[in-house]
Amino acid sequence: MSKNLIVAIDGPAGSGKSTSAKLVARHLGYLYVDSGAMYRAVTFLAIKKNVLNNNDEIIKLAEETNIELKFIDGETRVFTNGKNITDGIRSVEVNENVSIVSKIDGVRKALVKKQKAMGNLNCGIVMEGRDITTVVFPNADVKIFLTASIERRTERRVKEYNEKGIDVGVNEIQQNISLRDKLDSTREVSPLVKAEDAIEIDTSKVTIEEQVEKILAIVKETVDKKDSKRK
Ligand code: C5P
Repeated sequence: MSKNLIVAIDGPAGSGKSTSAKLVARHLGYLYVDSGAMYRAVTFLAIKKNVLNNNDEIIKLAEETNIELKFIDGETRVFTNGKNITDGIRSVEVNENVSIVSKIDGVRKALVKKQKAMGNLNCGIVMEGRDITTVVFPNADVKIFLTASIERRTERRVKEYNEKGIDVGVNEIQQNISLRDKLDSTREVSPLVKAEDAIEIDTSKVTIEEQVEKILAIVKETVDKKDSKRK
């Protein structure tokens, strides 16, 4: 399979983006990037520095912090200026504030710039988020939009927390997902929308393996088309 493709995957929380994007990247030997982890990192720092009410300070954090994503043992580890903050970015407090931070234009500009730079590394990349198919890589080779029912998405998130030994309420998680859906898809700057040319996959009733197979089949089709054009 030819290398250096950009595979962009968008969708709401719990639609199966991270799990399938990781497996697709592993299968293809591509770099995997969880763009949401970057918005979470900025939110975490804003909470720590107590500047959630100050957009200029939050933008400064997004612009000036060195955010590194290291994919180790199947998990994205997040470092800001060399400090490992992986555990902090999935907290309830970050969940509650991340969609507010990610509405800020200056924050998006700073993070999109870093994400676009990753696309210039000259290696295959699978990046997932909310605006990857529309803003970060509008010319991506493959564009996927994942969806699933709110019930199924809640169930997945609750399971993820439980597997980490964290006890969470189903209602609390469903409310947070619904609120983030609303904020993410109605915000003025780069809202979560399906790109016209993205292929939509409803993951409510399919297994992870089936999702991954579908995405890999779409990647293969794209590669075959590119190869036949070259001939
Ligand atoms: O993917 P995850 O659920 O971890 O993303 C957390 C939040 O980060 C989203 O709810 C959204 O507000 C924001 N986000 C974004 N654009 C992206 C990725 C995430 O606005 N590309």
